[in-house]
Amino acid sequence: HPQLREDYTFDNFIIGNNNEFAANAAKGIADNPGANYNPCLIYGGVGMGKTHLMQSIGNSIYQKMNGKKIVFISAETFVSEFVQAVQKGSQQAFKNKYRNNVDVLLIDDIHEFHSKESTQDELFHTFNALYDANKQMVFTIDRPPSELVNFANRLKSRFEMGLNVDLQPPNYETRLAILKNMNENSHSNIPEEVMELISKNITTNIRDLKAALTKLIAYAELVGKNITLEIAQNQLKQAFNAPIQANITIDRVQRIVSEYFNITPNDLKGKKRTKVITYPRQICMYIIREITDFSTTEIGLEFGGRDHTTVMHSCQRIEDRMKTDSTLEPLVMNLIRSVKEHGN
Ligand code: ADP
Ligand code: MG
Repeated sequence: HPQLREDYTFDNFIIGNNNEFAANAAKGIADNPGANYNPCLIYGGVGMGKTHLMQSIGNSIYQKMNGKKIVFISAETFVSEFVQAVQKGSQQAFKNKYRNNVDVLLIDDIHEFHSKESTQDELFHTFNALYDANKQMVFTIDRPPSELVNFANRLKSRFEMGLNVDLQPPNYETRLAILKNMNENSHSNIPEEVMELISKNITTNIRDLKAALTKLIAYAELVGKNITLEIAQNQLKQAFNAPIQANITIDRVQRIVSEYFNITPNDLKGKKRTKVITYPRQICMYIIREITDFSTTEIGLEFGGRDHTTVMHSCQRIEDRMKTDSTLEPLVMNLIRSVKEHGN
């Protein structure tokens, strides 16, 4: 298919609990386009796999269902094609292309339509025509539709009426699985411990995660050396110490976690053992352990001089709880994202 990347398939899309719902929905759509989940909205941050998952739907339908017309387009291209059509007076051709000649319409990054009033109008009518004809639509977006600005309400409500699924940052195991899959696909033999190192250090963006491994694979090929932990450390210094992550202090994590739970950093450091305090305290320790190099002893000191075994216990508590409470992991991932995202 001319518009779809061959490697953006379900086979190459590693499933973890961060994306399980979205991935299963996507497969359901691919099995039965236009039937149940229409439209489908996939949302998630940068590098979270939105484009990959959407194109997997396209590729799967293309393989299995001969003759289905699948159109994949980025919102940006849609805008510029429409603007050109208006300038050239070829709107009718544009309408034909997107309203009458499509079985599956995939539009990537629809937040890009913000402030583009006439294109939004056009999309609205396109949407209605396809919807009435039971043609499948899938859109990706970087935020929930309710948070779109400069966006026609009637269009927002159209986006919201189907199935909305989101892609969260992957956990450590899923990150590692993604790298292993890549390692296999490219027939390279990067040692497992090196992939573990990368998974530990690059936590929020799958694109960055993959880029790190790509670099090492290239290094092995071009320099002709086997990749050791030391070489990996050295080559990925920049990616590991991206400025965004360099200034993560225990203080900062405590501030963000306490804000989220509506308590104070002093509560986290203090002696209180009520559940409203201990739970955030454990989460906070867990996050620090996950994303910084501080030892459990150092962490304990910053929590009112607690012992390192207390810190280890707290982290274990959170890990255990993640296995039974499916809301905990997304919560932790979102907190980690906040810690990393907004400077100081
Ligand atoms: P987005 O569109 O959300 O910014 P992409 O779909 O471009 O993200 O994904 C970024 C990179 O991460 C791509 O190389 C993609 O193949 C890869 N990727 C994302 N999610 C997964 C996953 N679950 N398994 C394997 N690779 C993934
Ligand atoms: Mg994308």
